[in-house]
Amino acid sequence: MILVTGGAGFIGSNFVLDWLSQESEGVINLDKLTYAGNLSNLEAVRNDERHVFVHGDIGDQALVEKLLVEHKPRAIVHFAAESHVDRSIHGPAAFIETNVNGTFALLEAAKSYWTKLEAPERTEFRFLHVSTDEVYGSLGPSDPPFSETNAYEPNSPYSASKAASDHLVRAYHHTYGLPTLTTNCSNNYGPFHFPEKLIPLIIANARAGKPLPIYGDGQQIRDWLYVKDHCAAIRRVLDSGRLGETYNIGGWNEKANLDVVHTLCDILDQLAPRQQGGSYREQITYVADRPGHDRRYAIDARKIERELRWKPVETFETGIGKTVQWYLDNTQWVQNVQSGDYMKWMERNYDQR
Ligand code: NAD
Repeated sequence: MILVTGGAGFIGSNFVLDWLSQESEGVINLDKLTYAGNLSNLEAVRNDERHVFVHGDIGDQALVEKLLVEHKPRAIVHFAAESHVDRSIHGPAAFIETNVNGTFALLEAAKSYWTKLEAPERTEFRFLHVSTDEVYGSLGPSDPPFSETNAYEPNSPYSASKAASDHLVRAYHHTYGLPTLTTNCSNNYGPFHFPEKLIPLIIANARAGKPLPIYGDGQQIRDWLYVKDHCAAIRRVLDSGRLGETYNIGGWNEKANLDVVHTLCDILDQLAPRQQGGSYREQITYVADRPGHDRRYAIDARKIERELRWKPVETFETGIGKTVQWYLDNTQWVQNVQSGDYMKWMERNYDQR
């Protein structure tokens, strides 16, 4: 058994589905079901007895300790977070509460549980913390990509809160010996991505005939990784990562935001042409840039490739094609999220919440 936090969110739900399709081991899925948590992502495993969903807060240390003692998981994989940079600019408090205080409470619960374990469970236990490349700050055009030894220079309340959580995880390893692993990953994309984020937002707006908003000049560069490649990397780190280490995970796919949007428009022009003719590119609209917007992120993923023999399967071209097709095939999922109907769906289908 493993305990996953935030397993109803974008990456967490992909991870849970992936895990249950490949492993015999079960998952306890602890999620607070904020606006970003969506249990319909997990519809495929609703009747799978190996999936135990628990509606709760990682900041509730007593609840986490109870779950650990009851289910005796061999690992915690920690995804739960407030994750949207724009929201962190307008309301940072929730980011401090969940990402910093919540991670602290989770670490305390894990430490209390792990300390009482005996070999071999004590030796096998892992606390894997899922983090972001945004903790490293912003790169200039010719800077080398972020490696694990880069200094932390977070620029948004989101990245600062994730940086704080990374430091806490590091400290729990160094001070108490808690067997931790940390991963810092670049931008993910793929199925079940909440349509406030760039790629699903652009696909949804394009299809709805709405403007496609581009921040500033659209030349902000991000590295992109298909979410299922990220899930595979996390599994690899959990299996074979060295204790106390951090691993950068990326797709070697640096793209300017405007180029990503152009690619999406071109694929949509092919797969779902506009009724009125012309290209979706005509819907592109430039809007004021995000305050403090980081210019460039890029990941040097050579450590995980060399030490753990992980490499992404998808190129940006293959992954983005699959992603657009998924959103075209799942318009109801997008509509339910945008209308808030997924909340009603969860109330109907998960009485135990
Ligand atoms: P998300 O916002 O889609 O999902 C977060 C999940 O955590 C939701 O299900 C939410 O209900 C849950 N949650 C929030 N607060 C909680 C709390 N206090 N207790 C329990 N559950 C809570 O996020 P995501 O995009 O899936 O990101 C998952 C993790 O990966 C985050 O830690 C994020 O920092 C990290 N990450 C994300 C990306 C990316 O591109 N999305 C890249 C690198 C790292």
